[in-house]
Amino acid sequence: GARRTRSRFLGALEPFTSVRVSYYEREHRDLVRVSDVETVRSPLAARDPESLNYVGYFAELMDEWAQEADPNERLYRLGASMVEAMALGAPIARLARYFEYWLLRLQGVYPPAIACHECAAGLEDDGAWISAREGMFLCARCGGPGKGVRLSSLSIRFLHEASRIRPADLEAISWSIQIGRELEAAHSLLITTHLAKELRSMRVMRELQN
Ligand SMILES: [Zn+2]
Repeated sequence: GARRTRSRFLGALEPFTSVRVSYYEREHRDLVRVSDVETVRSPLAARDPESLNYVGYFAELMDEWAQEADPNERLYRLGASMVEAMALGAPIARLARYFEYWLLRLQGVYPPAIACHECAAGLEDDGAWISAREGMFLCARCGGPGKGVRLSSLSIRFLHEASRIRPADLEAISWSIQIGRELEAAHSLLITTHLAKELRSMRVMRELQN
């Protein structure tokens, strides 16, 4: 059941950061099934000390969604692939935005970043506005400051690439400080709107950044 799946995952998260993940591919599935997550190193051995700040955030985010989700194998596999990517030293800010994107997408919260909800124009050339309340993307012409958070064309490209690559390959994704800021603003709006509250760990992370 969901509870068992969650505790299995969080059990691997709590000692965290360095684990060995075993998995095998299933036919007709785009993701792999994780059969075993084994802790092989202590958190003190984490390559990137900053990544430890994110651990509580990832765990709280997963926990919030696992509570309302049905037994959710895909969520568990996403979590396990995150643990694997962290153990391999994936860039943590990109990993955080990637994780939020997939978590929100698997829960049906993230609107498709393909076309404008109103005029069907593509979003990759001029960027877009994302409305958390309406759960939709508007193009640069149809959207505006009163209708959500602005995402540049580069941020849209990040989302398109994120939908195709594994977290272990995030070194290669389109990235800049600005992309990170835009996606962080959009995702935290989606999360707080959907959960109707701000996560404790989001506040902690923000205080650490300032
Ligand atoms: Zn439009």
